[in-house]
Amino acid sequence: ARRNVLITGCSSGIGLAIAVKMAKDEQKRFKVFATMRNLAKKKPLEEAAGHRLGKTLEIKQLDVCDEQSIKTCVNSIPDRRIDVLVSNAGMGLIGPIECQSIEEMKTVMDTNFFGLVRLLKEILPDMKRRKSGHIVIISSVMGVQGILFNDVYAASKFAVEGFCESLAIQALKFKLQLSLIEPGPVVTEFERKVFEDGMKMDLSAADEETAEMFTNIYLKNYKQIFQSLGQSAEDVAEHTVKIILAENPPFRHQTNTLYTPMTTLKYADPNGDLPIDIFYKMVFQHDKIFSASLNFIKLLRWRSRKSFDLGKPSQ
Ligand code: NAD
Repeated sequence: ARRNVLITGCSSGIGLAIAVKMAKDEQKRFKVFATMRNLAKKKPLEEAAGHRLGKTLEIKQLDVCDEQSIKTCVNSIPDRRIDVLVSNAGMGLIGPIECQSIEEMKTVMDTNFFGLVRLLKEILPDMKRRKSGHIVIISSVMGVQGILFNDVYAASKFAVEGFCESLAIQALKFKLQLSLIEPGPVVTEFERKVFEDGMKMDLSAADEETAEMFTNIYLKNYKQIFQSLGQSAEDVAEHTVKIILAENPPFRHQTNTLYTPMTTLKYADPNGDLPIDIFYKMVFQHDKIFSASLNFIKLLRWRSRKSFDLGKPSQ
């Protein structure tokens, strides 16, 4: 039978790419409910979906920060049946915390973390009753490891990961599957918007050294990081669909093999100092270490490719 898939944040980027890929499945295994906060932004999705629109893909309104909109959306789906939930909607925030308001930070937590919680409060009880369902969350490598000037964003993704680790144990009892997708840098609207906001940021509340660090080190390297390590939204979508089709989907899946050596550092040192030390050296000691690391990471890509072979997806 066709599986009903609800995806959030489909007006752009990864959400749009996943929605289109699943709607175009040759075996027509999915009925996609592609949702977005603002239906006025549906044009790019409509165009990408083409003749699948109204057949294997339907567009619906859903704001992850609004419980009522979630309820209305779920109630409009036949039997409220959602077999696969893809929690994708999210937002970024970069910069020194001195220059960010608590309100801005709360919006990030409200979208990235409570957005997921709201969805599950509405959808999980039905999945438990049916004893079937797959919850797929677009997390981030920053849900595993923090990065300079991404303090609040990383905190929001850590919150997601902690929440899911706890929930996964219960989910197992109900035969539900839970998968965290952890992309590294992805070239989307997200990256462009975060960078633009960073460039426009009022840095007057920060001391000179911090402001300089943000502008001349972080922002200066930002584009280069996306250029050298960045994946496309379609690439992340391909990984995500493989996980959805896998017979035994893993709890965590990183989509970018170039990034894996960085997150591996975390597990290599129980004291936690190793990744912090390496990041420090990469950022502050010299750019040469940084580019050498990128080359090293590229080399490792070849070696680690095998571990990312998910095998044949189940039919
Ligand atoms: P994007 O900005 O193109 O997509 C995010 C989508 O979420 C947008 O369509 C936006 O409108 C939507 N959204 C924001 N607030 C919402 C709300 N309240 N209700 C419903 N929708 C809302 O960026 P993207 O890169 O495709 O991001 C998708 C997910 O991937 C996010 O969770 C993000 O944290 C994660 N991610 C992105 C990157 C990256 O580098 N771009 C890396 C790792 C993880």
